[in-house]
Amino acid sequence: MPSLTLEQTYAAAVPAGAVAWQPAPVPAPRLLYFNRALAQELGLDAATWDEALLAQVFSGNRLPEGVRPVAQVYAGHQFGGFVPRLGDGRALLLGEARDRAGRLRDLAFKGSGPTPFARNGDGRAAVGPMLREVLIGEALAALGIPTTRALAVVATGEPVFRERPLPGAVLTRVAASHLRVGTFEYFAARRDHDSLRALAEYAIARHDPQLAGAPQRYVALLRAVIARQAALIAQWMNVGFIHGVMNTDNMTISGETIDFGPCAFMDAYDPATVFSSIDHYGRYAYGNQPAIAQWNLARLAEALLPLLDDDAERALALATEAVREFAPAYESAWRAGQRAKLGLRTDGGAQDIALIDDWLALLARSRADFTRAHRALADAAAGDEAPLRDAIPDQAALAAWLARWRERCAQEDAGEAGAQTARAARLARVNPRVIARNHRVEEALAAAEAGDLAPFERLLAALRRPFDDDPQLEPYAEPAAPEFTQRYMTFCGT
Ligand code: AMP
Ligand code: MG
Repeated sequence: MPSLTLEQTYAAAVPAGAVAWQPAPVPAPRLLYFNRALAQELGLDAATWDEALLAQVFSGNRLPEGVRPVAQVYAGHQFGGFVPRLGDGRALLLGEARDRAGRLRDLAFKGSGPTPFARNGDGRAAVGPMLREVLIGEALAALGIPTTRALAVVATGEPVFRERPLPGAVLTRVAASHLRVGTFEYFAARRDHDSLRALAEYAIARHDPQLAGAPQRYVALLRAVIARQAALIAQWMNVGFIHGVMNTDNMTISGETIDFGPCAFMDAYDPATVFSSIDHYGRYAYGNQPAIAQWNLARLAEALLPLLDDDAERALALATEAVREFAPAYESAWRAGQRAKLGLRTDGGAQDIALIDDWLALLARSRADFTRAHRALADAAAGDEAPLRDAIPDQAALAAWLARWRERCAQEDAGEAGAQTARAARLARVNPRVIARNHRVEEALAAAEAGDLAPFERLLAALRRPFDDDPQLEPYAEPAAPEFTQRYMTFCGT
């Protein structure tokens, strides 16, 4: 009998947050993807299993003994409106694995059949969107951005019905935890303060163990989440990542990116960029993400109010003060990221702020490809300005900005030998060449759906080396044709 050594700490700590449930059996499980290195990192025996066994276990058809799956319950603000009960409609938490570093990591299925929280959903998932979750998660991980990751994808051999029948799949997701802002909102809305407290204690044990037992630990937890999210969103912004559906049920307490529905990487720089088909008003546009994160964190703060202080006014003051920390924390993380993206090591204050803002204004005016333009700075630092001139057509404006940049770099280098080479190398480690380009992702998923996994595997291999200067990666670095991007839409409810 295969074994998955999982603990069930969440179900034990927050019983009102978990409902025991079994995955639905699938007719013909076939392994499409398995991340052996991740399995090893998690210390799972599964790292050594053959494909047939992996397909059996990670489709849910043959759950190892001792695994007791649960559906997790949560609420959430979806596009600003509160839904008091969402929960895992098509997902199951299998349990927590203790990884090689001694940290607990959640293992969860997605697409494993309807649960009591499925509402009108079928509980299923399709191959394309689950492989998409693999690609985007691995892309973010390779860029050094905190993210949940896929461990396995198994085709079920059964169609799922969307606008048309699609091949079905079950994904296994690994997460620092699946605690969401919406999990706190669920208990707060029901005024179940015992569960709310148990959840906060559990979150502290999982993510901020240094706070355990501290007198003001709940406000400290709130502050820690705010700090993690500020850092995360700054990282998204600095690679042009658009999450697409930043509802509070899709925002983690851990600070990891979660739920890859209509997400996409921006190509031409424009803060108003939206790809999601359901985001009609651009609530979750690229440039709105920091403000939305803060809005979501205010919902977390509200949910935590009953724990912050017995005096309601004092609780509100603590919560407000904490939420106000988001904007400066975000701004400083984002600025530090942007300085690094310009190859600067030191903080030049107002001069750098102007340099960064004028650079972004230049990109916006010329609708330059965000990733290519930044990567071209590495070439420019190494003495080759051609890629940059290619990326930004307004040559006069570019020359004026470049002169200021060179002056700022010279000031930082103070004549130090090798400083330019070091800057070029630094830039090439910060500004990726390869991102998950929308046309490449779609091409890989269309082929996978038709049974050919080769383009998916090639793309995945490229996404794992985002900073490499290998000419073979060039097809994955090229932006889509503008006609493609104009029409491009990503879909939710996948
Ligand atoms: P998402 O937009 O993926 O974050 O999902 C929002 C909510 O809808 C969550 O409660 C999901 O569990 C639920 N959901 C999404 N798709 C399905 C489905 N096909 N069947 C059941 N529930 C679903
Ligand atoms: Mg979700």
